Amino acid sequence: MGKPTGFMEHQRQTVKQRSPGSRTADWQELQLPAPERFLQEQGARCMECGVPYCNMGQLYQGMALGCPIGNLIPEWNDLVYRGQWREALRRLQLTNNFPEFTGRVCPAPCEGSCTVGLIGEPVTIKSIEAAIVERGFAEGWIQPAPPKTRSGRTVAVVGSGPAGLSCADELNKAGHQVTVYERDDRIGGLLMYGIPNMKLDKRYVQRRVDLLAAEGIQFVTNCEVGTGVTTEELSSKHDAVVLCCGATVPRDLPIPGREASGIHFAMEYLRGNTQQLLDDSSRADFISAADKDVVIIGGGDTGTDCVATALRHGCKSVVQLEILPESPRERSADNPWPQWPKIARSDYGQEEAAHRFGSDPRDYQMMSSEFVVDENGHVAGVKAGQVRWERDADGRYTPKPVVGTDKVYAAQLVLLAMGFTGPESQAAEAVGITWTRDGYGTNQANVFVAGDMRRGQSLVVWAIDEGRQAAQACSDFLAGIR
Ligand SMILES: Cc1cc2nc3c(=O)[nH]c(=O)nc-3n(C[C@H](O)[C@H](O)[C@H](O)COP(=O)(O)OP(=O)(O)OC[C@H]3O[C@@H](n4cnc5c(N)ncnc54)[C@H](O)[C@@H]3O)c2cc1C
Ligand code: SF4
Repeated sequence: MGKPTGFMEHQRQTVKQRSPGSRTADWQELQLPAPERFLQEQGARCMECGVPYCNMGQLYQGMALGCPIGNLIPEWNDLVYRGQWREALRRLQLTNNFPEFTGRVCPAPCEGSCTVGLIGEPVTIKSIEAAIVERGFAEGWIQPAPPKTRSGRTVAVVGSGPAGLSCADELNKAGHQVTVYERDDRIGGLLMYGIPNMKLDKRYVQRRVDLLAAEGIQFVTNCEVGTGVTTEELSSKHDAVVLCCGATVPRDLPIPGREASGIHFAMEYLRGNTQQLLDDSSRADFISAADKDVVIIGGGDTGTDCVATALRHGCKSVVQLEILPESPRERSADNPWPQWPKIARSDYGQEEAAHRFGSDPRDYQMMSSEFVVDENGHVAGVKAGQVRWERDADGRYTPKPVVGTDKVYAAQLVLLAMGFTGPESQAAEAVGITWTRDGYGTNQANVFVAGDMRRGQSLVVWAIDEGRQAAQACSDFLAGIR
């Protein structure tokens, strides 16, 4: 253990972010570089407690405790405190294929389970993780390391999000020849076209893709499996196939007026924006929020990314409608440590909106009932009213409208950010591939499935874990064939 008294001497501090006013003027990342001394002090706060719940990664009462990929957090906190950065990187790489992604975008369930959090503020784990890997790149310690021998087996991975990439990385390290098929024009899945640039600069995604390519993974873009090439064809051409196609079917809101122009799914908006940014030219599918009143339906993280993007476009106003009540300020009795604390949070988009317009953009317990449409068929507003959550006869909470609370929010742009219902099925359905949540296999011996496609919309860290587990299942299968 590095410093027994570290957690008493040093207060938790998080890495500084650029001010809301300055950062909404561009698309650069929010966080500023952290000085080494700061990181060492924060690392010294780790108690290396007997049972480190931060890296447990187990499900308990349906909730994950700590880091889903079992990052060896106490070990690298201690190594950072001692200034042994290269060894810290070596320990980090044992469990996490892409710490530069999780170190930027993970909500850090590890910090919710940190033992220091029982009596004070948890260790700044996520920022230390990001700093270790960035130090590795800066020092040139991370170099392409192709496998020394090849197994002679080939695997097709369909989909290039974090699940597909971690799966491909693991299979390639095991010596199998991997080809990743991606329908988009760029590799990265939601790392590339979902999460906005200010949270994860696309240069870091491309840096990792280039590294994987230098290690021998082949990437085929603009190739939709199920239409251009079928899963059956892939399965006969390769020894195994792993499907990592994500869960990208958006939840719709079929209320009167839905057919009006100016109403889009969040991903159409976010995707077009990143694509225009990267292509550096104007695109026909680009949706601008400039000078518009924007209503975002959905108070989650995707909605927050829409708020932040609309602010950067120069929107006239922005409101985020959420049907659920606001979470409590403190952990409730049925949500004890070391579970992830389900408490009210203000994310970067809300902070920026409050800075620009003077208040948090979220309105809670609001249910939209109608889109107001103008004489040109364009959306002009969203009619919504308050709800009360009441238990029904089966004990389930359901929203009940509160009479007399309807109001109309002006909107020339409405973004639907209410989550995703599941995977698009073309890669699997046409050839009758089915699976359950029990493992990573399917009803076909040489076809595997992982990531959001298997578990539903989740987090980058879970997708990395899924890709690793599916790679293990696939490798076991390949070892058994003659
Ligand atoms: C807007 C947004 C913001 C998010 N922000 C965060 C965040 O800050 N932190 C976090 O941890 N998580 C975040 N998430 C969730 C996270 O991005 C996902 O859980 C994660 O990317 C899932 O990884 P995946 O590899 O399973 O799927 P995806 O990343 O969805 O990748 C699937 C890939 O498969 C491709 N594909 C699909 N069908 C085919 C086909 N038939 N042929 C070829 N290719 C195909 C798709 O084009 C896509 O590239 C966010 C999600 C969204 C939507
Ligand atoms: S991947 Fe996420 S949960 Fe795991 S150590 Fe990093 S920030 Fe924490």
